[in-house]
Amino acid sequence: MEKLPPTMSLSQTGIVPTWIDKGADPCQDFFAYACGGFTKDAQIPPDRSSWGAIQLVVKDNEEFLKKVLEDAAASKGGDPVAEKIGGYYAACMDEDGIEKAGTTPIQPYLDAIAKIYDPVKYGSAKPPAVETSAANAIITLQAAGYTPFFSIEPQQDFADATQVIAGLDQAGLGLPDKKYYLDSKGTMPKTRAAYQAHIERMFGLLGSKTAKAQAQNAFRIETALAKLQQDQVFRRDPHNIYHRVELDGLTKKIAPSFPWADYLKTIGIPNVTAISVNDPKYYTAVAAMLKKESGAALRDYLTWTVLRQSANDLGKAWVDESFTMQKELSGVKELPPRWRRCVQRVDADLGELLGQSYVKARFAGDSKSRAVDLTKAVLGAMRVEIEHLPWMDDATRAAAKTKLDKMAYLVGYPETWRKYEFEITRTDYAKNVRAATRWELQRQLGKIGKPVDRFDWQMTPPTVNAYYDPTLNEIALPAGQLQAPFFGATFHPAVNFGSTGGGTIGHEMTHGFDDEGSQFDASGNLRDWWSASTKKQFADATKCVVDQYSQYEAVPGVKLDGKLTAGENIADNGGVKLAYEAYKTWREGKSVPRQVEGYSDDQLYYLAYAQSWCEKVTPELLETMAHSNPHSPPMWRVNGVIVNQPGFGAAFSCKAGTPMNPGKTCGVW
Ligand SMILES: [Zn+2]
Repeated sequence: MEKLPPTMSLSQTGIVPTWIDKGADPCQDFFAYACGGFTKDAQIPPDRSSWGAIQLVVKDNEEFLKKVLEDAAASKGGDPVAEKIGGYYAACMDEDGIEKAGTTPIQPYLDAIAKIYDPVKYGSAKPPAVETSAANAIITLQAAGYTPFFSIEPQQDFADATQVIAGLDQAGLGLPDKKYYLDSKGTMPKTRAAYQAHIERMFGLLGSKTAKAQAQNAFRIETALAKLQQDQVFRRDPHNIYHRVELDGLTKKIAPSFPWADYLKTIGIPNVTAISVNDPKYYTAVAAMLKKESGAALRDYLTWTVLRQSANDLGKAWVDESFTMQKELSGVKELPPRWRRCVQRVDADLGELLGQSYVKARFAGDSKSRAVDLTKAVLGAMRVEIEHLPWMDDATRAAAKTKLDKMAYLVGYPETWRKYEFEITRTDYAKNVRAATRWELQRQLGKIGKPVDRFDWQMTPPTVNAYYDPTLNEIALPAGQLQAPFFGATFHPAVNFGSTGGGTIGHEMTHGFDDEGSQFDASGNLRDWWSASTKKQFADATKCVVDQYSQYEAVPGVKLDGKLTAGENIADNGGVKLAYEAYKTWREGKSVPRQVEGYSDDQLYYLAYAQSWCEKVTPELLETMAHSNPHSPPMWRVNGVIVNQPGFGAAFSCKAGTPMNPGKTCGVW
């Protein structure tokens, strides 16, 4: 950012001139102005459900990684990294081998399920020795990575963030949210019917003569679970999902009939006693269900879970059938080519091996130090904001400053690369997937009882995304997100600040102070550090944002859920506002071009943020997002934010009262 040419063309700044629609009025609809040139002509490729700035980077990354993996697969050995990723990719691409294997890879699990006796029939009497309880089958499945009924993960103890304990959470539904089983908004009833038909066809593929009845059983049990599960908005309050009960609580009070000791032993953590559950009632109800449901119904639900979670690793008929649901929920028209699915698979299973060549090629030189500088600048602006906020009392202000000062940031890629010490064969894809799944499960569960590792990444380096972790009080910015058109070493600084500074760094940083993150303190403990009066002001400001976004439609007739999206919307608004302040401070005394082809640098700032959300999305995905995704759709991530920006009206000379400069604004930060 330091060595700027005295004059720049608009395309040199990092703005994409052809994406701008000069015919649109920026004061009426800024998304249409910044992105209209793109959305007018853009076609969503048939094998994707959206197309825009993010997807262009994703596509570029996938093509780069494909070449890396093809070279690795063709190499004659010698390089241990190439051998592993090349072997994994080659086995994934071996469709003939996968076809020949048929359902052999899942047979051991289907066999374990087939042995489940009928709890209703036997009651407390002893069943025949060859038969087993549903609980035993659940244990076998969970040890292999399947998640019927619930899942287990390491979790930083909300009450003492230095400890890693075991966290049990609700799981086991095949639709994206519990609402899909219970509500009738928008196309939910249609999706529900499509899902039931899909389950039936999957049982048909398994050769079942009673597919319809089996599908009914599986769906009925999922619906019963949906009724028992917590909804996403309720789960935004961390108090609602943290209940430390210990092993004793489970075995003596909550669900004594489930063999918890066997469960922990079989999944590989026999000595763990420190356990939190999301909701004690849920486990009591699941344990009761395992006693009162018929053996047939339990077998059908568990079989369905195995089919659903394995279909994409089996032959063509299974992959195609699984894709019918993806089509329904996302509007994607064609199955992505095999190579793309295999690139994604290697990224998911061996991400820190595959990521090494990505970082070398795409995040070299001073990319990292520039991103770190930008991060520091945005954190600095937040510090100034906290110092001057009129609605914050001094005690809360001091605690907020401490939280900000302790916020850590991971940039680009890990300091030390993760190891994957399991055998990989070129000829048995299912065996590789099994080994990778077990390895990751053991790696995760191995964290329990050990000190917290702040340097363990939750995303791989090529990922085009970022995150904030409230229990670690840490943001992470993968190299994949720090690419053009979001970020460039030669871009105009206003563009880097607008897109990456606001849209990514400021956004993630603000999550530390959104409706959810604000409940954790500087060390990641769930602790109320807000004074009552400041909290009230915070709640009022949050409500303003909730009400604002609740007015927006995702598709005709389906509005956004203002509460579900509150945290992301607060982060978007705060990020863009704070990074703008950071940019103004940064440019003081520097000779940055203040005008480029008629655009002021302030205008470039807002344009860059908006263009990072230039995107066309299928109506199917827009609706699925509205029902289940905490992020607002792209056009609202632009216009919903712009209307609240104090600097925007002046930058684009929008008269007060125009749609993008309405006068009444919401904002927490
Ligand atoms: Zn976010």
